[in-house]
Amino acid sequence: MILAVASGKGGTGKTTVSVNLARVFGPDVRLLDCDVEEPNDHLFLKGTPCGEETVTIPVPQVDESLCDGCGECGRFCEYHAIVSFGATALVFPEMCHGCGGCAKVCPRKAIRERGQRIGVVETMESGNVTLIQGRLDVGVAMSPPLIRAVKARLRKGASAILDAPPGTSCPVIATLRGTDFVVLVTEPTPFGLHDLKLAVEMIRELRIPFGVVINRVGIGDDRVHVFCGNENIPILLEIPDDRRIAEVYSRGEIIVEALPEYLAHFERLREAVLERTSTDLHDPARIATRVATPNAPTVQR
Ligand code: SF4
Ligand code: SF4
Repeated sequence: MILAVASGKGGTGKTTVSVNLARVFGPDVRLLDCDVEEPNDHLFLKGTPCGEETVTIPVPQVDESLCDGCGECGRFCEYHAIVSFGATALVFPEMCHGCGGCAKVCPRKAIRERGQRIGVVETMESGNVTLIQGRLDVGVAMSPPLIRAVKARLRKGASAILDAPPGTSCPVIATLRGTDFVVLVTEPTPFGLHDLKLAVEMIRELRIPFGVVINRVGIGDDRVHVFCGNENIPILLEIPDDRRIAEVYSRGEIIVEALPEYLAHFERLREAVLERTSTDLHDPARIATRVATPNAPTVQR
């Protein structure tokens, strides 16, 4: 079962839900931190680092002695990362997504590929949790290939929780594709409701079952509750606006360990998710939307 934890905006408690849910999820769970621009699950899961792998994407290199400037590569590339210029073609590596298409369409076989580093995948063991996190190199803007490299560590048949980047853009979609269920974390505020609506729209488009966790209940108003009620969206857990939770978070600790009275809350969340996925996983429409991970980048161990 592959579960994702997402939110329409940052700062809603997505990390809190991810690490606490992972801790209560079972004897052997993988937590994949796909927020590769700013991974922070490791701040809460103390453990032993046990591996780092470099991730590269294939970027084209043009052999000027073979290229005649026909422009086929530039017409193919939807990211404008290669353009023909006079009698040859120029590559803009920082815009390249490493799809390999330009090399395939080049009629003169003038394009070779070289591996360009975009970041690393780090692994850490922490009790029942194997944490796998992507860390994008400074100055690299291409997070989806690194997210796919992190997701390539999913094990067939084993449980995994994916901590998605915030928002509703390409990196989030790259994270959510192929998951069985999404937990959307929000706050009961006008901003929280606005971003929740965007996230709901995106997940419905992806046809993934989902439910909502409302964090910091007690602040704001009841419009998130009303919206979920009107839209038939299950509220899986409500976390109160408890000052002690903020203190635990600021010390880099996990709620279920520092405040044991919350253990039952996260166990209930786990049960609610498992209950829903056990039925949804047998839905033929869901099975049809499960997709393989495309364009897996290269990993050097
Ligand atoms: S498709 Fe090949 S030959 Fe044509 S411009 Fe691009 S690199 Fe040169
Ligand atoms: S590999 Fe793909 S993204 Fe990169 S330049 Fe070629 S066609 Fe464009």
